[in-house]
Amino acid sequence: MTDLYRLFPEEMEEMVKKLGYERFRADQILHYIYKEFPKTINDMLQLPAAMREKLIADGYTLGSAKQTHMIQSDNEDTVKLLLELDDKKSVETVLMRYRPLKLNTKTRHTVCVSTQVGCAMGCTFCATGQMGFERNMKAEEIVTQVIHFANLLKERGEHVTNLVFMGMGEPLANYDEMIRAIRLLTNPRAFGLGQRHITVSTIGLVSGISKLAGEDLQIGLAVSLHAPNDTLRRRLVPTASANSVSEIIESGREYFKRTGRRVTFEYALIEGVNDTPEIANELAELLDGNGSHINLIPLNPTAGDFSRPAKKRILEFERVLYRHNINCTVRVEKGVEIAAACGQLRTDVLNEKDANLP
Ligand code: SAH
Ligand code: SF4
Repeated sequence: MTDLYRLFPEEMEEMVKKLGYERFRADQILHYIYKEFPKTINDMLQLPAAMREKLIADGYTLGSAKQTHMIQSDNEDTVKLLLELDDKKSVETVLMRYRPLKLNTKTRHTVCVSTQVGCAMGCTFCATGQMGFERNMKAEEIVTQVIHFANLLKERGEHVTNLVFMGMGEPLANYDEMIRAIRLLTNPRAFGLGQRHITVSTIGLVSGISKLAGEDLQIGLAVSLHAPNDTLRRRLVPTASANSVSEIIESGREYFKRTGRRVTFEYALIEGVNDTPEIANELAELLDGNGSHINLIPLNPTAGDFSRPAKKRILEFERVLYRHNINCTVRVEKGVEIAAACGQLRTDVLNEKDANLP
């Protein structure tokens, strides 16, 4: 079985040639699957019927993730899908709409994709980390998540503008399939998304970060730091001992040097754990003069005993960073009411807890 969303344009041409058809049929298929979003091979009506039959007989498929649940926030700014893969495993994918805050800026439609079913990193505050690791996702399964939303937006006369690898799983632990998906999604003959509109978020796998820096891609990098020292970080990220905080900061610096893209550090703020003014100071000193940006993410409470700090506490943390001239934003909250924290929807469905699900 080969999913058509796995093939690069050159591979598509090769395949069409092997089937005995002319090259332009490859362009037709590419146009269909990246602009029209057919559900099945037989929906590509401009292809000869015999060609469609041959594709199916030769084991080609289209779109390896079927939508089983969809929930939207009341203002429709966040849409979350639960998708079922061919082996019946399920993953989440989210669409977020960011309305312009300034004049002359456009609405952004950002898709957040998953790269693994579950995650082996086991972060103690993360719903995905608590389910354990099931398997890596294939590039076509990652691409199909974006296609689901491109199709949904097309009905509204809009399109996907940004992509973040911040769903379930650790993207750099599924490196080859992640890169293949990025190359497909940015290929002008395939989905054609701008490289600079993509951000990969990692828990800080240093070897993966330096490999990514050498890819000749202009994608953004976000590193999930969560703590300014190794002792505290190990409480939140059990696998943290593999890469120390200072190694991670250094690899972010190297990424910037080699790609020219500034690195964002993500920091999930957890009440009474990593949210004190003292820890804010330690973090500020760690990143001082680094030109880095910190994205504070007030915790989305999932499993476990962790909770979100009060607003006052969050502002206080932010103020300490500002005083040290550290660029910092508090993540605009999206979809808390629809369980948009990574891994939450799947956890709810598997537990059959959420009565709101259609
Ligand atoms: N594995 C990658 C990408 C997926 S998680 C990583 O860890 O970076 C994307 C972001 O969501 C990470 O910064 C992660 O720390 C954060 N996150 C996970 N669970 C969360 C929760 N319950 N509340 C707030 N942020 C969370
Ligand atoms: Fe995995 Fe990221 Fe969740 Fe950690 S925060 S368990 S790395 S998905």
